[in-house]
Amino acid sequence: MLKTTWTDQRLRRLFGKYNRLYWSSDLPDYSVSLTKEFNRSRCEEAQRTILINADSYESDSALRADLLHEMAHVATNIRHGKLWKAEMDRIRSLGAPVSELDFQPGIGRKEILANFSDAAEQGLTWSQARSRIGWEFGLIKSSGRAVDKTVAAMLRIARRFFP
Ligand SMILES: [Zn+2]
Repeated sequence: MLKTTWTDQRLRRLFGKYNRLYWSSDLPDYSVSLTKEFNRSRCEEAQRTILINADSYESDSALRADLLHEMAHVATNIRHGKLWKAEMDRIRSLGAPVSELDFQPGIGRKEILANFSDAAEQGLTWSQARSRIGWEFGLIKSSGRAVDKTVAAMLRIARRFFP
């Protein structure tokens, strides 16, 4: 699988290209930047920024698919509800190189909590599970803090699985 070097400039060019191809350049001008603060990608609506940890991707195509995932948030809202799903369907039908993972049901809060529950049963400590699962799913920053309030609330629920 091909993995090349990514720069902010290259990410912004790709944003521009996808915006032209799949949104007729109608998306607002977001900045796209590399980060090492968390795993994979995030859309920061208030800052009009998409952040991507290029190191955390196994391939360029996985990174591109996540940029499209975040751009579909820009076009709709930050949730993964009906609007966002319809947008993902629409760009997929236009030939956008999206990830099939984004079309599988059940990847979300429920699955993440199940991972915490499994970890507790396997005897991991809360702090081990929090950093391992938190990083894998992009829930925590490299500082160890939850990425946002919704995630912090979910982590409080997950905490209860552990002694
Ligand atoms: Zn998302």
